[in-house]
Amino acid sequence: MSDITTLIIGAGGVSRVVVHKCVQNAEIFGTIVLASRTKKRCDEIKAELSDAKIETTFIDADDTNALIKLIKKVNANIVINVALPYQDLTIMDACIATSTPYLDTANYEHPDEAKFEYKEQWARDAKFKEAGIMGLLGSGFDPGVTNVFCAYAQKHYFDSIETIDILDCNAGDHGYPFATNFNPEINLREVSAKGRYWENGEWIDTAPMEIKMIWDYPQIGKKDSYLLYHEEMESLVKHIKGLKRIRFFMTFGESYLTHMKCLENVGMLGIKEIEHNGTKIVPMEFLATLLPDPSTLGARTKGKTNIGIVATGIKDGVKKSIYIYQVSDHEECFKEVNSQAVSYTTGVPAMIGAKLILEGKWQGKGVFNMEEFDPDIFMEELNKQGLPWHIKEL
Ligand code: NDP
Repeated sequence: MSDITTLIIGAGGVSRVVVHKCVQNAEIFGTIVLASRTKKRCDEIKAELSDAKIETTFIDADDTNALIKLIKKVNANIVINVALPYQDLTIMDACIATSTPYLDTANYEHPDEAKFEYKEQWARDAKFKEAGIMGLLGSGFDPGVTNVFCAYAQKHYFDSIETIDILDCNAGDHGYPFATNFNPEINLREVSAKGRYWENGEWIDTAPMEIKMIWDYPQIGKKDSYLLYHEEMESLVKHIKGLKRIRFFMTFGESYLTHMKCLENVGMLGIKEIEHNGTKIVPMEFLATLLPDPSTLGARTKGKTNIGIVATGIKDGVKKSIYIYQVSDHEECFKEVNSQAVSYTTGVPAMIGAKLILEGKWQGKGVFNMEEFDPDIFMEELNKQGLPWHIKEL
């Protein structure tokens, strides 16, 4: 067992997977300190791993000073942020103040504005450099593995990539009429927002769910796939040279979209405070309280996920397309770590990113996105740690 201390913040669905996977790699991660807003949820995760070295504690991750105290107290070698995107900046600031490497899986969002972008996290690059530490942004599946797939395609298959489509299919069935597979508030904000893609140097907005295509997902079949804005596109347009277009598609069933539309029409997706019988409530937060807790969906979800990228470009003067994708099975994931595949496919890459930082295999000072590093070692780890992938030429 190493003398490393790994501080994991947040104790939801993704955190459960990260903790299980860090314990499977205990020679790298050493002692795990699991800290979150509700300590009971940390203790529930700890109870699943009775032989592991895990300490649990309360933290309010909106409070930078409290975070600084905790990081110093436990002498953390790395902070894995799997709380919510609202906490990214406070946790990054605490890492800067204590010179501790940082990793997250989703980019910063302000609670009062359904808009996500890297601006404020990238703006901390100079401070990370000054503190001599690395911040790895978006080390989940998408963002995360999808960025690594793009870097891998660029390194091994193309002289230049012209177009990328990121294709995200969750064909899992949890048996509820309506539920979200990860934090309902974050999920519903993402899918009810305008669509957006990038072409010839410009961002093009679409109405929500305006652009649809049918894609045949290996091991799943044909599914309606809708164009959404997704955060990895913002960094990929910067880092994949020669790119002319990038789009992101996600599958949704008709029932899910009908529920969403109804909820939107009656104002339940609102993120501004309203008054109800003298009490102030945010409709979206109230809805999240009513919906099934995503971390309880694992036990009842059947089916598969398939997330990948299709890249088209030029190699040795010839135009070609490749498809790199990963398929996970909800029930298999649950058997291994008590979580469904959406949390699994996010938590495993978070652990891998942290492992590569602690091993010094991905190194740097400043704030980085996933595609900026050598993809080969990450791709090898995916095969070893439960997310085997496939490549085919189209
Ligand atoms: P959950 O809602 O299940 O878990 C979030 C956890 O963070 C909860 O334990 C919650 O506490 C805790 N938390 C919230 N606010 C605070 C706070 N102020 N202080 C301390 N802890 C806090 O979310 P998920 O596990 O589904 O998602 C975790 C992250 O992963 C999110 O950022 C999400 O956007 C991201 N994600 C990324 C994906 C990717 O592929 N890149 C895909 C899916 C998710 P409490 O238990 O009290 O509610």
